[in-house]
Amino acid sequence: MRFDIITLFPAIFDGYLSQGLLEKAIQRELIDIHRHDLRDWAPPSVHRPVDDKPFGGGPGMLIQVEPTVNCIEKVETMDPRPMRKLLLTPQGRQFDQRMAEEFAESERIGLICGRYEGFDQRVIDILEPEEVSIGDFILNGGETAAMVIVDAVVRLLPGVLGDSQSNIDDSFSRGNRLLEFPQYTRPREFRGHKVPEILLGGNHAAIEKWRDEQSRQRTIQRRSDLLPEEPSSSN
Ligand code: SAM
Repeated sequence: MRFDIITLFPAIFDGYLSQGLLEKAIQRELIDIHRHDLRDWAPPSVHRPVDDKPFGGGPGMLIQVEPTVNCIEKVETMDPRPMRKLLLTPQGRQFDQRMAEEFAESERIGLICGRYEGFDQRVIDILEPEEVSIGDFILNGGETAAMVIVDAVVRLLPGVLGDSQSNIDDSFSRGNRLLEFPQYTRPREFRGHKVPEILLGGNHAAIEKWRDEQSRQRTIQRRSDLLPEEPSSSN
């Protein structure tokens, strides 16, 4: 799977792409990630500005339409696979696990990162990207949001995780869409806190039943909004 990240700060991704699962997925050629500096499409001048003041006044600066559209149109031609264009904005559809699963089916994703007050509206009108938010709060830029999406999508790709069952059992995931059950590792006891006996007995059917029940209880207590709706009694 190919990712194209369009940003004014490509170096922000250096550490993130050179560690852990991401580094391994790149080395094993399960993904390739290309960063594109929006400033390379700025009109030639000393500072290469890509932002300007908003018409009508107001605080801050906006990223201009011309370099952004030119950049993304060029990036699209860099690979024959069609690019699913995601523009990061707090005003977009809120990202969740179902969206991550949907994005993981794509061959190629473009992540367009804003800065300052965001983009000139004509970027959206012309390119018609999907607008995606990672939550109801304001970040300084779309780069951290892009990392969140790449991170959530990459772990769903075949071969990335050592055990493919993990992303079925994980909270919000395909297994049951609920919160995951509690888990324990050695030692069996620490400061009087014991691992539940059922996990030590090796009865897999009983363990699975216990985990299902724990997952349900935890979801009821913490996130009842995730529980499937009861079928209406009038049907
Ligand atoms: N003025 C914009 C507004 O009120 O909608 C916010 C601009 S924000 C300071 C700068 C950039 O950060 C945005 O263009 C976007 O790319 C990114 N960003 C900020 N919050 C985000 C969020 N919750 N989800 C995704 N991207 C976000």
